[in-house]
Amino acid sequence: ANENGARDRTGQTRVGQVKDITSLANPIVKDIKALSQKKTRDETRTFLAEGLKLVIDAVELGWTLRYLIYSKAAKGKPQVERIAARTVAHGGMVLEVSEKVMASITRKDNPQMVAGVFDQRWTTLRDVSLKEGETWVALDRVRDPGNLGTIIRTADAAGASGVMLIGDSTDPFAMETVRATMGSIFALPLVKTTVSDFLSWKSKAGVSVVATHLAGAVDYRTVDYKRRPVVVLMGNEQSGLPEELASRADMLARIPQAGLADSLNLAVATAVMLFEARRHLLKLDEAK
Ligand code: SAM
Repeated sequence: ANENGARDRTGQTRVGQVKDITSLANPIVKDIKALSQKKTRDETRTFLAEGLKLVIDAVELGWTLRYLIYSKAAKGKPQVERIAARTVAHGGMVLEVSEKVMASITRKDNPQMVAGVFDQRWTTLRDVSLKEGETWVALDRVRDPGNLGTIIRTADAAGASGVMLIGDSTDPFAMETVRATMGSIFALPLVKTTVSDFLSWKSKAGVSVVATHLAGAVDYRTVDYKRRPVVVLMGNEQSGLPEELASRADMLARIPQAGLADSLNLAVATAVMLFEARRHLLKLDEAK
């Protein structure tokens, strides 16, 4: 046994890999806090996610942690110990921190007891090929972190297979977005692409691109979502879909609306579209 009395699953001691941190000035704490900036996330290609359930879900899906961070209150919990051992076994570091440090890392007054730093994962468009019954969401220049997080969560819940970000989009690995995904960020592949790459992929992918547009002539409930795999294409929050994307879609669908509002919120419109596109594939008896 080591001075902590701890051994990981591989039998290696964890001395030197479990760090006890109480100081906000600790350089590792500073590095982790810097992940709230996109520049640091881009440079390190990592991101921070909070919450024990979320970290457990991620590990179960095969993600490995660069850092596991937990506050003293979580010490000794069997689930936390298991993840700590696994983190060390995969070359990560375990940080036991004071509540003050946890609050500072997660920028919350009542922080979660557990957080993790993970490597970002991106899928390239050329590796995406849709099989029968698959649905993807493509978002044109999505701006709002909450919208993107909600869309990733909803896409996962609707059984969609992935999310494409076209053009200059908000970062899916921002803390606010990751929070809003409620863990679904770990479940769905994400693709970052340009308008021209998306259009050339589309021409060979054998998919139906069902674009949504406030000027769409087709009622979204009348679209045949079974004929080919579907990419539901959604427009930017402010300006909607640009002509270069709208003109190349297989159809422009619209969700009929009543009332005063000109349009639906992007995440709400995406949810309505996804559950309609996958209506024939979702069954209550298969639900969790
Ligand atoms: N002012 C923008 C416009 O003119 O398109 C509104 C954009 S809306 C907030 C964001 C996106 O949600 C739209 O580009 C479209 O993809 C989708 N959307 C919202 N309401 C819709 C509806 N009733 N029918 C089809 N798509 C809708």
